[in-house]
Amino acid sequence: MDYFPLYHDMRGRRCLLIGGGAVAARKLRLLLKTPVVIDLVSPDLHRETCELVNEHSSQVTHHERLFNSESDQHLLVSSVFVIAATDSPVLHEDIAKLCQQLNVPLNVVDQPELCSITTPAIVDRSPVTIAISTAAKAPVLGRQIRRQLEQSLPANLGRFADLLGGYRDKIKSKISDETQRLRFWQWLVEGPAQQAAVKNDFDATRRLVDDALENITGDYASKGEVYLVGAGPGDPELLTLKALRLMQQADVVLYDRLVSPAVMELLRRDAERIYVGKRRDDHSVPQEDINQLLAKLALEGKRVLRLKGGDPFIFGRGGEELETLAEMGVSFEVVPGITAASGCASYAGIPLTHRDYAQSVRFITGHLKNNQENIRWAELAAADQTLVFYMSLVGLPRICEALIEAGRDPKTPAALVERGTCEEQRVMISDLTKLPEASKREQFRAPTLLIIGGVVSLHEKLNWFSGKESFIEV
Ligand code: SAH
Repeated sequence: MDYFPLYHDMRGRRCLLIGGGAVAARKLRLLLKTPVVIDLVSPDLHRETCELVNEHSSQVTHHERLFNSESDQHLLVSSVFVIAATDSPVLHEDIAKLCQQLNVPLNVVDQPELCSITTPAIVDRSPVTIAISTAAKAPVLGRQIRRQLEQSLPANLGRFADLLGGYRDKIKSKISDETQRLRFWQWLVEGPAQQAAVKNDFDATRRLVDDALENITGDYASKGEVYLVGAGPGDPELLTLKALRLMQQADVVLYDRLVSPAVMELLRRDAERIYVGKRRDDHSVPQEDINQLLAKLALEGKRVLRLKGGDPFIFGRGGEELETLAEMGVSFEVVPGITAASGCASYAGIPLTHRDYAQSVRFITGHLKNNQENIRWAELAAADQTLVFYMSLVGLPRICEALIEAGRDPKTPAALVERGTCEEQRVMISDLTKLPEASKREQFRAPTLLIIGGVVSLHEKLNWFSGKESFIEV
């Protein structure tokens, strides 16, 4: 971030605008939205500038002359910032030098190399204002973003913010607990009071807020709860709308290794984050402790997000976590996610079922316990089914070997998908005999998903996703 956004308090300040043409008029119009007192230096004025100066004579002083680096220095140093909008690049350079010497922030229209500050595209719903900058790289893009925001924000947003501002002190004195207060504010900005405001019914908004403050055990003060949410296999665009909403609401988030960094980016900025990840044979937080922690945080009144890779009910131990919550009377909600099998198969161009190849698909854990005897291999031998093995990297040689022993054709196509749906996705296409050796050679690392069956051969035609790495065929 080369440019750091800040907001200037313009009350009781002065500002210097150099130039009187059409461009200066645009800047002047913008400045006049604020209470700043403006010195405008220009030997002549464009019609539009002249009208603005006359209309706002108490706020703008027109100094009818060319800007002079010496005699006009006093105007410069008393300004919160300076805008130069003349048609003289030479004058702009002089002004830039002077501002640099005197440490006064300067914006020069259309000459980014001379600017120490840039003016953003602005969405104005005062007191709510949104500033969009592209660091002078693509102003048109900035304006397009502004248009999108303009369309999506209610016109009376500012009035709503003003109304809420009027309640700030009262809320603070009525609700001393910080978590409860935050909850109340969230109820205000997304609950019925906000909906009434969007409909321009500010009397109803006020009534709702007043009533709520009289009775602080309303909805917003309800007990904490747990959201068990599937974060999908990695690509953040595969999140559900519901997952995204809850990610924005939660007070605290428990997440593990499978949740991709791109998904983590979308969490509420100030939510507390607790890593409870596991790796094979390295259980950093025992499952029972996670179950207890979820319950404890919810009972403290927090909205707890348990974020899990893929779908929480597929090899996610989501069920176990919920059992503890149910026993302790904590309310919860479950949001399904796209499981690795769906995500990896789609992004590798492998349909999990196909009329010609597979009439069923099975999701199997490849985490082999007690000498691998927890899997009934004979059931997996029939050719007309797709097998998807989760957690199968370590067990891969044994899985392929056992399937062949059970009668599955050694030439059955098999795919190994590493970090499926992420930009770094790698896919190896091979068969049951060659895959284990090849994946070792290419150093495939967890998380990987193993897909076995005739459908794998379709990837050649149906592959569409090109991350940084593509297919390796062996
Ligand atoms: N609940 C998860 C699965 C958890 S088990 C889900 O529904 O997807 C963990 C296993 O999921 C990993 O060992 C790996 O086999 C698989 N997995 C999860 N995300 C993956 C990804 N992006 N790419 C490949 N495999 C993945």
